[in-house]
Amino acid sequence: NSFDEECDYLFKAVLIGDSAVGKSNLLSRFAKDEFCLDSKPTIGVEFAYRNIKVGDKVIKAQIWDTAGQERFRAITSSYYRGALGALLVYDITRRSTFESLKKWLKELRHFGSSEMVIVLVGNKSDLIQFREVNLDEGQSFAQLEDLFFMETSAKENLNVEDAFLKMVTSIYDIT
Ligand code: GDP
Repeated sequence: NSFDEECDYLFKAVLIGDSAVGKSNLLSRFAKDEFCLDSKPTIGVEFAYRNIKVGDKVIKAQIWDTAGQERFRAITSSYYRGALGALLVYDITRRSTFESLKKWLKELRHFGSSEMVIVLVGNKSDLIQFREVNLDEGQSFAQLEDLFFMETSAKENLNVEDAFLKMVTSIYDIT
């Protein structure tokens, strides 16, 4: 059980983005078997842990999911408190979710730490026939805003591991 494993660091990171972009599925993909989902119905936030080896260190990544609260614009500052990283997710098949990114970034930069590592994720890359946001639009936005960027598919398990690892190793590099 990874929960009981010795670890050198604990990093908190958050998932953020419009409803139904695939945040919960990305998290369950990443957390998979070594999984400890701790449901907190009272505050409506869920999180999962996974231990990651970076060099000779073990980092326990604690990743928070909004549990649907973004639908009500009810994400509070406590969600972001202490977070060192964020996966900012949009859905490549819904342009509106890409257009919301500016709003989410503003919130992240307002509530989060100034050093926060942000990985921009264009999810549902398996649905190319329904694509509304091109790869280079995601890339340009990321470059402009100084974010890491990746397209993923939680469904086909494409780049999911890479996106989370990018975030965790980048946090490790700056701390
Ligand atoms: P959340 O509200 O952001 O947490 O989104 P969910 O993880 O609940 O996903 C919303 C819907 O999108 C669900 O029906 C998922 O099955 C679907 N979904 C999530 N990720 C993918 C993906 O990578 N590809 C496809 N085709 N569907 C996805």
